[in-house]
Amino acid sequence: MLIANRGEIAVRIIYALKELGIESVAVYSEADENSLHVMLANYAIRIGPPASKSSYLNMKNIISAAEISGADAIHPGYGFLAENPEFAEMCRDHNITFIGPPPEAIRAMGDKIEAKRIMKKAGVPVVPGSDDPISSLEEGLNIAKEIGFPIIIKAAAGGGGRGMRLVRDESEFTNAFLSASNEALNAFGDARVYIEKYLEKPRHIEIQLLGDMHGNMVYLGERECSIQRRHQKIIEEALSPALSEEKRRWLGEVAVKGAKAIGYYSAGTMEFLMDKDGNIYFIEMNTRIQVEHPVSEMITGIDIVKEMILIAMGEKLRYKQEDIKFNGHSIEARITAEDPERNFTPTAGKIDFVHKPGGPGIRVDSHIYSGYSIPPYYDSLIAKLIVWDKDRISAISRLKRALEEFVIRGEGIKTTIPLHLKIIEDERFKKGDIHTGFIESILKLDNI
Ligand code: ADP
Repeated sequence: MLIANRGEIAVRIIYALKELGIESVAVYSEADENSLHVMLANYAIRIGPPASKSSYLNMKNIISAAEISGADAIHPGYGFLAENPEFAEMCRDHNITFIGPPPEAIRAMGDKIEAKRIMKKAGVPVVPGSDDPISSLEEGLNIAKEIGFPIIIKAAAGGGGRGMRLVRDESEFTNAFLSASNEALNAFGDARVYIEKYLEKPRHIEIQLLGDMHGNMVYLGERECSIQRRHQKIIEEALSPALSEEKRRWLGEVAVKGAKAIGYYSAGTMEFLMDKDGNIYFIEMNTRIQVEHPVSEMITGIDIVKEMILIAMGEKLRYKQEDIKFNGHSIEARITAEDPERNFTPTAGKIDFVHKPGGPGIRVDSHIYSGYSIPPYYDSLIAKLIVWDKDRISAISRLKRALEEFVIRGEGIKTTIPLHLKIIEDERFKKGDIHTGFIESILKLDNI
């Protein structure tokens, strides 16, 4: 199997392949010559220069690498080509198994307006908003007034928070609309935007799904991802302290129903926002493995990456819903090479020394090692620190201990470890009293 990715997720997938007894082929750019995924894989093929578009996004080179190496399957990881339906189709056309859902499902969920339409029809509650792309400024303003400010403008092809603008009142609408569609066009080649009611201080809650090609699907509980900066997740946990058992079951069943409506299989995540009154609304579906999947693995004991591979091989799901048990609590801290004191500017360069924490209940998913150089070209995620303990309070105290033990040293290298410590030591975080604006409002960091 070829892994069309880099960094921690490429390493994570290679671990699963080794345990399944499947040979692995790494692909890498010129900037990743000394990467851990290249060293760990059975074979490694250089696919292009550092820029992602010439290497990790270069579909032809990746397919060629698969053919040359004799790989008959490709795992796309997350990011890069993971949610590109053309790539999934290209794999299909070359008789290469794509480890993920069918291209039709990727395409349907990749258009967030279409995704909401499908889910609404399937009986999944969606955030109130426009049912179609906004075709003119005038129409947009009318819809916004109808929904009532504040509203949020979002890109149909959106991802990574791009093309998203909060609009508090009418006077801000024109600028926000134009800049959102412009940003969407530049980032995705698709200027279509839509409008949603802006929920104040919501919680981000998502359901991990696992389904096979034979119509079987289970939910592996939820993850709470409300600790965000600029609408991007920083800390995730399973389960959410905000859901009752009854609500959990209801949401899990709703998510399964929605995913079944599009003939989904493989691992996937339905994302929801929950408002202050406990109303839950669908926002989007991610048709791939997610960065935060380990917390679900820790509480269910299910290896989601391995299951994705077995599902793609046509195997039947090995679990029924009643087999899924939630045990203890797990939290993940995304550690990035960024300087929180300097507006989160990415820091690249050589890491002279790394010490990863250990001991009971600790898992570190990472590609860094002493002597590794962080290239400046890619995502700044360098490690995911995942902890497990019997309950949330013990897990927080274990996370604190592990963050304090984690050493990443190198000239000019700064990480978000101090920020994580600040967050988890906050009394409101400890109580589970969190929302998506937590970092901004509670820690009062400038320019977040
Ligand atoms: P992307 O795909 O760009 O990451 P999402 O639709 O997944 O965008 O939303 C990312 C985050 O943006 C959410 O977790 C939430 O914090 C915020 N957000 C999105 N839609 C709304 C909304 N309608 N009201 C309030 N916050 C929202």
